[in-house]
Amino acid sequence: MRFEILKESKISKARIGRISTPHGDFLTPAFLPVATQGSVKSLNFKEVKEIGFEAILANTFHLHFRPGEKIIKEFGGLHKFIGWPGPIITDSGGFQVFSLGFGLEQGVGKILKTFPGKDISKKRGKNLIKITSREVIYKSPLDGSLHRFTPEKSIKIQEDLGADIIFAFDECTSPLADQKYTKEAMERTHLWAEKCLKTKKRKDQALFGIIQGGEFKNLRKESAKFIASLPFDGFGIGGSLGKSKKDMFSILNWTLPYLPIKKPRHLLGIGYFEDIKNSIKYGIDLFDCVFPTRFARHGVFLSEKEKINILNSKYRRDKKPIFKDCQCYYCQNFSRAYLHHLFKAKEILGIRAATFHNLFATSCFMQKMRKDIKEGRL
Ligand SMILES: [Zn+2]
Repeated sequence: MRFEILKESKISKARIGRISTPHGDFLTPAFLPVATQGSVKSLNFKEVKEIGFEAILANTFHLHFRPGEKIIKEFGGLHKFIGWPGPIITDSGGFQVFSLGFGLEQGVGKILKTFPGKDISKKRGKNLIKITSREVIYKSPLDGSLHRFTPEKSIKIQEDLGADIIFAFDECTSPLADQKYTKEAMERTHLWAEKCLKTKKRKDQALFGIIQGGEFKNLRKESAKFIASLPFDGFGIGGSLGKSKKDMFSILNWTLPYLPIKKPRHLLGIGYFEDIKNSIKYGIDLFDCVFPTRFARHGVFLSEKEKINILNSKYRRDKKPIFKDCQCYYCQNFSRAYLHHLFKAKEILGIRAATFHNLFATSCFMQKMRKDIKEGRL
């Protein structure tokens, strides 16, 4: 992988770059649609390409369980198995340590929605995992059987999957974790980062390290300095991003100054338009997020300025397109009333339309971001 910076903003830390991989190049800042199970929910890859995406992100943990990396390897890797010839990034599976363990236990996301003080104990589920510095033991989400994940195993799976960019295995802590626990988890992540670098054999894959440290300034700085000192090809900012969006940008402020300018930075799991725009100003190059596709499944159509929940009965007789300025096929050809009907009738086409539109809007937004940097507005 090669990363070239093509243009740096004079008014912020934003930059336009190009990432070159064995499966092609793409421009940054870039948003990567998430193909969790090797599929961008309801769309085929011809459509993903038509929408304007040049690279996608797939999920190591899910593909490991089903169909399993051995089968994918037999097909010559993930690119061939799923029929996407372009660049692919795989995450490390570390996020699932969080989402199957503490995330599920406390019912919270990457940015805390329930502020401490409110009673969150009612949301407590079962903690499915056990973490030590050597391994993570957890139950399969498919059948409840016990499995272990290690940094070495994460790299081996990702080598079998064969993505162009892979991630080091990390522990993603909950926004509710205290400083003591967050520090322990960060130290494990640092140890695992070194193990991942040591394990990696394939020369055609780039390996990104992940910075942890939760919402704590001293830990974020320590993690950024340590991970940046290791020979990674790029960096991910992971873990809990605090209790509010303000916290998230403080975390970027504490972290990014320690990262080498010439290597790409990925803000993991963040994808609202406004957050993307603000993060670009801090110097973030890569984004991935399930929001556009997840919202789509619930009948929510996104634009930079508003969200439309098409299930609302006020759209029953609405002849207007979803967004008249959107050039996507569905905004050009379907009325709100028809889309409302499709969702009410639970027709698959409704979900396809919303998924296509939301990703189209995201792709247009990223093009606009690059244009704004190029023309000195961002
Ligand atoms: Zn549209």
